[in-house]
Amino acid sequence: MKIGIVGCAGRMGQMLVREVLQTPGAQLAGGTERPGTDVIGRDIGEIVGFGKLGIAVSASASEMFHHVDAVIDFTVPPASVEHAKIAAELGKVLIIGTTGMSDVHSRQVEECAQKSRIVTAPNFSLGVAVAMAVVEQVAAILDDAYDIEVVEMHHRHKIDAPSGTALGLGRAAAKGRGVVLDEVACKSRDGQVGARHRGEIGFATLRGGDVVGDHTVLFAADGERFEITHKASSRQIFAKGAVRAALWCKGKKHGLYTMKDVLGL
Ligand code: NAD
Repeated sequence: MKIGIVGCAGRMGQMLVREVLQTPGAQLAGGTERPGTDVIGRDIGEIVGFGKLGIAVSASASEMFHHVDAVIDFTVPPASVEHAKIAAELGKVLIIGTTGMSDVHSRQVEECAQKSRIVTAPNFSLGVAVAMAVVEQVAAILDDAYDIEVVEMHHRHKIDAPSGTALGLGRAAAKGRGVVLDEVACKSRDGQVGARHRGEIGFATLRGGDVVGDHTVLFAADGERFEITHKASSRQIFAKGAVRAALWCKGKKHGLYTMKDVLGL
């Protein structure tokens, strides 16, 4: 499968390039970056420390989409929506790892998936996909005497909060409980906020250092606390999952998929 990486000079972009180069059945066929950045025209292999590959970083996503079977996108929400539109126009596979999408962005991506195959996940690691499935099950068993709180920590450069993974874990808990996350979520607390509401799903965000991504879902009741924790120590796990998702799309029908589909959970 010929794979292109948009945002190929970013933290995740570089990981993705290396992962594609090392994955049997995957072939690196292009990479783009934001128009105007100084990496445009440079050799992608040299950027990621693999030596010259003869593939230059392009500023044109639409041109790259023409030459590939699948594109992997870990960039910013407006760019991912534009890439989804191109994928729909050309019927290509698109894997989106970008987080911080608004409801409008998510709806636009969903529409584009009617004419392409798109896999989105706030977290492409296998462990988090399993954690989400477990959280949903636990939330279905424990009633709202158990207060649910999602705690996450990431490196100091992360620009969105709570993390997409924390929100995904919150959505899994809400689903298990049969409620809608937006109706019960408390995304921050500051000052005289009053006592906790029963049934609330709370979030706490920590930022600092080079933490790749720690997430804990707590179920706290009188007399006991039950915690489900995932800790990522390398970004490579996200790149591995994203490339696996791209290869999985081969032969699939148009539609919007998640890592749950890719892993058959
Ligand atoms: P980063 O800032 O290092 O990289 C983003 C790259 O995208 C930059 O190089 C930027 O120049 C490029 N970019 C922006 N607009 C572009 C455009 N229009 N065309 C081409 N390139 C463009 O950020 P990062 O740490 O790599 O994270 C990127 C995103 O991936 C964030 O939303 C982050 O939360 C998310 N992320 C998701 C997962 C997951 O498993 N789903 C894991 C890690 C990070």
